[in-house]
Amino acid sequence: MKILVTGGAGFLGSHLCERLLQDDHEVICIDNLITGSIDNIAHLRSERFDFIKHDVTNYIYIKGPLHFIFHLASPASPQLYLEYPIQTLKVGSLGTHKTLGLAKEKKAGFLLASTSEVYGDPLVHPQRENYWGNVNPVGPRGVYDEAKRFAEALVMAYHRYHGVDTRIARIFNTYGPRMQLNDGRVVPNFISQALTHKPLTVFGDGSQTRSFCYVSDLIEGLVALMKKKYHDPVNLGNPVEMTILEFAREILSISGSTAEISFCDLPIDDPKIRQPDISLARAELNWEPKVSLSEGLEKTFNHFRTTLKIQ
Ligand code: NAD
Ligand code: UDP
Repeated sequence: MKILVTGGAGFLGSHLCERLLQDDHEVICIDNLITGSIDNIAHLRSERFDFIKHDVTNYIYIKGPLHFIFHLASPASPQLYLEYPIQTLKVGSLGTHKTLGLAKEKKAGFLLASTSEVYGDPLVHPQRENYWGNVNPVGPRGVYDEAKRFAEALVMAYHRYHGVDTRIARIFNTYGPRMQLNDGRVVPNFISQALTHKPLTVFGDGSQTRSFCYVSDLIEGLVALMKKKYHDPVNLGNPVEMTILEFAREILSISGSTAEISFCDLPIDDPKIRQPDISLARAELNWEPKVSLSEGLEKTFNHFRTTLKIQ
C-alpha cells in the first residue's frame, strides 16, 4: 500500500513509518517539524520513503493513488502544547479536516491518533471507550483535549456522511526511544534527571496515576487497527497503573541513580487517575501490550544514555 503518515518525523510517527516500511509499504511522511525532528527519520531514507515538509493545516497535495492515512500530526506533550496552543487547536481541527478531505478524495482508509486526554480528569476508572469524559474546555489543557475531541467528531462525521473508512485510536501514555529529551513529559524528565543525578521533579504529591505503554506495543496496536474495519474509538495503552511517585522510585531503582526526589507544583487540570480499559482492543484486534515496564525502560535508558553521551 501507499501510506501517508502525518507527524511522521515525531516520536510515534517515526516508529510507525519504520514499521510500515518493514512491511514493504510505500510511505510518505508529512511533517512541519514543529515538535519533531528530521533526525528521527534520517535512517529511513530509501526509494519507498518520501518526506514532505508541510503544515497539514494547509491544503495537502499528493500525486497518484493513496491507500491509507495515519493522522498523527499534533504537539503531544503538555509542555509543548501549552507553548503552541493555537497550532495545537489548528492541527486538531483544520489539520484533521484537510487529511480527511484527502482520504475522501483518494478513497483511502484513515486513522486518527486521538488520546486518553479526551477523558480529561476522569470520573470513571479505568476508562472505557463509552465514557464521555470530564474535560475543562477553557483550562490550559483544553487546547489539546478539545482539539482531539473535535477531531474525533469530525472523523465520525466524515465516516457517517461521506462513508470514509475511518478509525480512532485513543492512545494512552506511550514512551520509548526518540522521545525528545526536553519535551517535558514525565519519562524523558525522570530518565534524564536520574542519569545526570539531578532531583526527580515529581509534580504535586505524586499520587496521580498513569499507565505507561512501550512504543513497539503501541505501534503494533495502530497497525492492527489499520487492518480492521472498526470505526468507533479504541483505547490503546498498557493497563499497568502506578502513581507518579512509585514511577519515580522505579526509575531510581532501575538506574541505580542516587538522585533525590523533589516535589513541585501540580500543573492545572492534571488528571488524577488514568488507566485504559483495553478489553475492546483485546476482543476486536486481538492486541495487548507485551513489553514489561522494566524491559521498556531499559531500552529507553539506553537511548537517553546515547543522547546524553553517558557511558
Ligand atoms: P511528537 O510531538 O513527537 O510528534 C508529533 C509530530 O507532529 C511532530 O513531528 C510535529 O512536528 C508534527 N506536527 C505537529 N503539527 C503539525 C502540522 N500542523 N503539520 C505537520 N506536522 C505537524 O508527538 P508524539 O508523542 O509522537 O505524538 C504523536 C500523536 O500521537 C499526536 O497526535 C498525539 O496527540 C498522539 N498521542 C501520543 C501519545 C504519547 O504518549 N506519545 C499519547 C496520546 C496521543
Ligand atoms: N510529571 C511529573 N514530573 C515531571 C513531568 C510530569 O510529576 O517532571 C507528572 C505530570 O504532572 C503527570 C504525569 O507526570 O501527572 C504524566 O505527565 P506527562 O507530561 O508525561 O503526560 P500527561 O499524562 O500529563 O499527558
